[in-house]
Amino acid sequence: MILPVFTWQQPVLREQASPVQEFGSALKPLAANLEDTMRGAYGIGLAAPQIGISTRALFVGYEDAGIPFLFVANPEILWRSREKSLGEEACLSLPGVFGDVKRPEAIRVRYQDTEGRQRELAVDGLFARVLQHEIDHLNGILFTDYIPEAERRQGKHSAYPTV
Ligand SMILES: [Zn+2]
Repeated sequence: MILPVFTWQQPVLREQASPVQEFGSALKPLAANLEDTMRGAYGIGLAAPQIGISTRALFVGYEDAGIPFLFVANPEILWRSREKSLGEEACLSLPGVFGDVKRPEAIRVRYQDTEGRQRELAVDGLFARVLQHEIDHLNGILFTDYIPEAERRQGKHSAYPTV
């Protein structure tokens, strides 16, 4: 189901989200709603707080950049590369704002799938950036927190998909 995306000052975007505790059929509707809403908004990532649910779950997917469609519960960043890269970001929860954020170029993440199985991912480039952006959402952090107001850009940007 495509749900409305929570934006701007809505408090759920600033909360520390709670861990996913029930898996399997109990979790499938959340996974489906995240995927549907992300696709419906032409996003490449969406975290549960962005649909008003303060739970540590997110969805990513962007075929053009080789990012598989993937549900991620309870992610934990195990390792971050010392090398950082600057990349433009935007957010479905902050429409019309974008800017450059410096983040580790590569990360290793442990997470659980919809069945609660432990999995690990080692990713870099855009995949690593999107995951870090989404994991930030689970901790109440928005990408604009990293950018001084004067350096944020406004308007429509066509080149970069949103998360
Ligand atoms: Zn976002």
